[in-house]
Amino acid sequence: MLIPFDGVQLRRYSIPEIKEKIRHTYGLVIVDGFAEAVTEESNARSQHWPIASYLHTHQAWCIDHSTYSHFTWLTQEVPDDCAPCDVVFVFPLAMGYGVGYPEPSGWFELCINGKTIIRFREVKYSELWTQGDCALYYDVRRVHVAPDGLGLYLDPWSKGSRMVSMGIGILKVPNRYVAPGQKAKLTVKAKQYFPSRTWLRVDKVFDERSSGDPNLWNLTWETGLKRILHGTPPVNISYGNVYFGDIHAHSFCGFESPCGPWDRQIRDDCVGCQLEGRGNGCGWGKVSSNYEYARDIANLDFFCLSEHDFQMPGDQWKKRVTISNAYNEPGRFVTINGYEYTSWQYGHRNVYFRGDSPPMFPASPNLGRYANKPQVPPEELWDYLQRNAEDFITVPHHMTAAPHPFCWERFNPRYDVNVEIFSGWGSSESAEGPLVGDGSDKYSHLTVQEALKKGLRFGFVSGSDSHDGCPGNAQGISIYNWANKFSKVGSGRTAVVCEELTRTSVFDAMKHRRCYATTGAPIAVDFQIDGVPMGGELENKGIRHLECKVKAPATVERIYVVKNGEILTWKACASKVEELDFKDNKSLPVDSYYIKVVLSDMETAWVSPIFVHGE
Ligand SMILES: [Zn+2]
Ligand SMILES: [Zn+2]
Repeated sequence: MLIPFDGVQLRRYSIPEIKEKIRHTYGLVIVDGFAEAVTEESNARSQHWPIASYLHTHQAWCIDHSTYSHFTWLTQEVPDDCAPCDVVFVFPLAMGYGVGYPEPSGWFELCINGKTIIRFREVKYSELWTQGDCALYYDVRRVHVAPDGLGLYLDPWSKGSRMVSMGIGILKVPNRYVAPGQKAKLTVKAKQYFPSRTWLRVDKVFDERSSGDPNLWNLTWETGLKRILHGTPPVNISYGNVYFGDIHAHSFCGFESPCGPWDRQIRDDCVGCQLEGRGNGCGWGKVSSNYEYARDIANLDFFCLSEHDFQMPGDQWKKRVTISNAYNEPGRFVTINGYEYTSWQYGHRNVYFRGDSPPMFPASPNLGRYANKPQVPPEELWDYLQRNAEDFITVPHHMTAAPHPFCWERFNPRYDVNVEIFSGWGSSESAEGPLVGDGSDKYSHLTVQEALKKGLRFGFVSGSDSHDGCPGNAQGISIYNWANKFSKVGSGRTAVVCEELTRTSVFDAMKHRRCYATTGAPIAVDFQIDGVPMGGELENKGIRHLECKVKAPATVERIYVVKNGEILTWKACASKVEELDFKDNKSLPVDSYYIKVVLSDMETAWVSPIFVHGE
């Protein structure tokens, strides 16, 4: 694409020429997405100069999750002859957390002429949401993230924010949603289960020279146009594509009573619930709302609603499997069947299945609430599943958390193939560091590094353990109590490396440890030793050649190599694409090596260890 210049005459295109070029080349009608605010239909807060942006703006309108706020505005006129083309609107957007500490999560809804078309969320990296035949790309052009425990001060409106991102909203809709020759009416609404001060802002560009199309004149929207046209391809590394998912989440649906004394919005959310005995699960949102949040708002490639065993008496497990299978959409959104064996005595393990109709074996035979009753040990769980399930793995989690510690003495590498190194409970990697989690006391001898020092072998995964109905984007539910589940970074995502996005390929990648953990940021890491990929094992008595390639959405600060549970070396970095090349000698009969990548905004990836046999 040559925009903004004409490649023949070597001069800048005029706006009418650009519109003609886009229509001719891509079959899209491009329209400036902001003409005027409709204040009588909005309760947004109006902001005025000075406003921190990446362009000249004197006026903006802001909505947030602390009130049920919404903002409506008109676009420039859609051309009379837009059919049969799709219509693309371009307008500036900004998002941020209104306070310096983590708060509850939520989502935003975008409507055109009164019809809801896209649900999305606050982000600090560029992201594309595609729902039905509409798409929204948020092209982040400027972003600030405050250091842990501090807030930003970019202008009088962003005071104290943890994060502020500013960019370009590019919205594609079919022409049947707009009236030819008229302005379209766009509305954004803040939606949430729990209030927070996370905000979204629509800016009016200050401009006197663009003849009525200031956004097309002042914004570099061409990158976003490409995304809208071609989608976001998965990141590719040398041995497959990298897909990102959340495999640990809980809904509100559960045992005992129907939904009762809760917020009205939650009761509405339960209308049409397919499960009897709903309510009183310790998560949030109904089962289907969790799937739809994961798919549409969090944009996950794969998802497991890993309900607690005690949440599912009677035929509730079977009903959940039916729902999970119905949401499974290979190539777009894969669902994994799984649940949480929730044992206070032996430690929590999530169980993930390869198949479509797996059994469920609870930690408490009477399915009572998680309590101080004797439970079934994991050996019986594995024995039962071995006899009754097609293929499965188990995954210990929040190993160090004092309320729910994990008993490593019962670790069984045959089934405990991976451990969840990061979640809303924080990191279990080591006893120290910025991400250990603030919401519960920790056992320093139950960390991943201690387990690796003992010679245990496993890979890494990560999941939110969401209890707020917002999987893939989870936080706690009440403001700033520093309870578990509040995360300074993303809420945890597992990356799998496989050729295609199907239930079996995602499961097989996890089973063979071709997977790794991230805080949530889409960090692509290619890690090999002597050509053997992450999670693998090899024999080498001599010099081992470690190679690591990283592609990250923010600047990489450091890449660490951790050998046998201790930092062996690290590299200081300064760009989004980095490499590490390192040679090392044998220390133990079996040496483990894993990679940790830390970005400038604290987002982190822990890449599954490679085990090198030296005898
Ligand atoms: Zn748990
Ligand atoms: Zn859980």
